[in-house]
Amino acid sequence: MKKTYNIDNKGYYGEFGGAYIPEMLYPNVEELRQNYLNIMAETSFQDEFDQLLKDYVGRPSPLYFAKRLSEKHNTKVYLKREDLNHTGAHKVNNTIGQILMAKRLGKTRIIAETGAGQHGVATATVCALMGMECIVYMGEIDIARQAPNVARMKMLGAEVRPALSGSKTLKDATNEAIRDWINNPVKTHYIIGSAIGPHPYPDMVTRFQSIISKEIKWQLNKKEGRENPDFVVACIGGGSNAAGTYYHFIDDEDVGIIAIEAAGKGIQSGESAATSVLGKEGIIHGCKTLLMQTSDGQITEPYSISAGLDYPGVGPLHSHLYTSGRAEFFSATDDEAMAAGLELTQLEGIIPAIESSHALAIFSHKTFKPDDIVVISLSGRGDKDLQNYIDYFNL
Ligand SMILES: *Cc1c(COP(=O)(O)O)cnc(C)c1O
Repeated sequence: MKKTYNIDNKGYYGEFGGAYIPEMLYPNVEELRQNYLNIMAETSFQDEFDQLLKDYVGRPSPLYFAKRLSEKHNTKVYLKREDLNHTGAHKVNNTIGQILMAKRLGKTRIIAETGAGQHGVATATVCALMGMECIVYMGEIDIARQAPNVARMKMLGAEVRPALSGSKTLKDATNEAIRDWINNPVKTHYIIGSAIGPHPYPDMVTRFQSIISKEIKWQLNKKEGRENPDFVVACIGGGSNAAGTYYHFIDDEDVGIIAIEAAGKGIQSGESAATSVLGKEGIIHGCKTLLMQTSDGQITEPYSISAGLDYPGVGPLHSHLYTSGRAEFFSATDDEAMAAGLELTQLEGIIPAIESSHALAIFSHKTFKPDDIVVISLSGRGDKDLQNYIDYFNL
């Protein structure tokens, strides 16, 4: 049998993954685990998913040959334009898939956690689309920091519930969402926003996001006469845009896989989110994975200039890609990412999300050959980050 880096039938990627959940959550997660693959295999499910991705999200997203960026770095750079999706990022691929899953499971009420608010907005969007009740848990501090996204969620009809415990950020919002799910097991589906959480979430989210690499294959074949690039590059928060970008290349070892994490103010600064380098095996949000923690196992607060990358863990797939050596991991500092974002803007006329700017910072860390084909996931657009860019560059 060919070696695979994909999930095994127990829900593990190598030693990472699984479902480490309180007993009272078991029925909910088990219902999902038993049904998700069958539901995703139904023709009616696939038809509805494909139709919405096409007419609502605007897929396929273009695979754009970035000519001036390529000349600058003396290699062939293609950008996978997830920034052009409805709501401005890749996250909607997953929320569309999960709301259809929830409907098939007979659920009428949706809960979600959000940090910066991007996943909350993507969830509120699909709930409006499907006429479902939507409750988004968000740390009180994040609510204050992310006012525009809070307003979007409210306008879309969602209720934003503040998480008041702990550090009042993403981790605490997640705890509140889990508590809600335990108390409302029958009619509620919990939409997790990245390739994290207890099995089957990492695999389900990865499969919904795998549309990204599915499209890359035929798009690249049309442009270059081959389906496989030499490298695929993506930024990693929890790891969903990366998982989707890698998925169809993961067992083709001629395709180099490159992951970029947020080094914040520097890996050794104590203010970063470089989970793979700094993390140790631990349990977060129901799965075993690499996790930034103190020597006595307390989760460390992560930091990045990019709100979407400051997660203290990383999806179990990526922990496996890291420890097995299948993927190359780099971490880009705030400064490197901001410079790369400005460079893309001025060479190509595209303002990227600061998360995506981290992926673009690969050129500060690695040199490619002139005829290498490098596909970079442009996970989102920069409109939401304009104030950050303005403050940083004194625009
Ligand atoms: C949320 C977000 C990310 C990080 O999430 P992943 O699950 O790691 O993909 C990256 N880019 C953008 C634009 C985001 O909104």
